Amino acid sequence: MTFPPIREELRGIEPYGAPQLDVSVQLNVNENPYGPSPAVVADIAESVATAAATLNRYPDREFTDLRAALADYLNRDLDTSASQGITPEQVWAANGSNEVMLQLLQAFGGPGRTALSFAPTYSMYPEYARDAMTGWVVGRRESDFSLDLDAARELILEHRPHVVLLPSPNNPTGTALPPEAVSMLCEAAANDEHCGIVVVDEAYGEFRREGTPSAVEMLPKHRNLVVSRTMSKAFALAGARLGYFAAASEICDAVRVVRLPYHLSAVTQATALAALRHAPELLGRVDDLRRARDETVGWLRDQGLEVADSDANFVLFGTFEDRHAVWQALLDLGVLIRETGPDGWLRVSIGTPEEMKSFKNALSEVMEESK
Ligand SMILES: *Cc1c(COP(=O)(O)O)cnc(C)c1O
Repeated sequence: MTFPPIREELRGIEPYGAPQLDVSVQLNVNENPYGPSPAVVADIAESVATAAATLNRYPDREFTDLRAALADYLNRDLDTSASQGITPEQVWAANGSNEVMLQLLQAFGGPGRTALSFAPTYSMYPEYARDAMTGWVVGRRESDFSLDLDAARELILEHRPHVVLLPSPNNPTGTALPPEAVSMLCEAAANDEHCGIVVVDEAYGEFRREGTPSAVEMLPKHRNLVVSRTMSKAFALAGARLGYFAAASEICDAVRVVRLPYHLSAVTQATALAALRHAPELLGRVDDLRRARDETVGWLRDQGLEVADSDANFVLFGTFEDRHAVWQALLDLGVLIRETGPDGWLRVSIGTPEEMKSFKNALSEVMEESK
């Protein structure tokens, strides 16, 4: 008898997670390096105190106020004179976009169904598929990490996936999808007999470069499109655990069937609502981070390294014969980055100017030594 009697396909598997190490420069999980101001902290604390007085009761199961505030936030970026904009019924939220995507797979995946993505991609996707007992099909990106649209369409027509998962900007490469790619994928995923949903994961959407549109703008055109967002990255609120998506209201209603009742605590709802009231301030450093990202890309290229173009708050660079040795040497110098992506590549999140200086000094030292 084997104990515990865990599902066969989970036996011996290590739980996912980047190392959480106590070092001075942490550039490994794409957090926003700038914490909330005292004014934001005070508003969150006051809102949570008010919520605390009600904690004997279950929270609003439909998180009505939060859905309305998130819809307002998305509509700020949209030309709402051209369409009616996103309504609260088109917004769904959960404890991080990781939970959002698991719920999508619980509702739209499942035994006998498949989810599809294109590698290199977010390493959690195959885990959601596994946990929701959904088949997993993975195509490949080009050597510059873009998508070959014809090959992507063919793969979709061949496998008829029920869920297509695509981060844009992609993690770990930073590559954004052009709008024509989103349209093509939505059309390929749905025909008369079969309708799959296409989830564009815009966890890093706010960091995209000038001229790169958000897939939110395409929602009126494609009813099988889901655009997922998070407050963890640009919004500087990773600790609050709040992710959300915008889609047709029918998709939200389908997810409501599988969500656990009261999944968003009153404390979480109060925190997210307070943070949304301070959106301009919390997002205030995004432009600084984008500039630092472009500067980091340039600097890494000047060192003779290969660097992927990035629309996100991180940069993938390489290639190293022994990337683990480079990662470890940087860690020994107090700089934690991420060993992820295709063989030979490493990923660094964009931190404060001081943190980036430490990163550059450490990498220069490590590269000098390995010569
Ligand atoms: C960080 C990240 C998320 C966000 O996760 P949360 O659960 O919202 O913190 C989602 N997708 C990708 C691709 C990410 O890198």
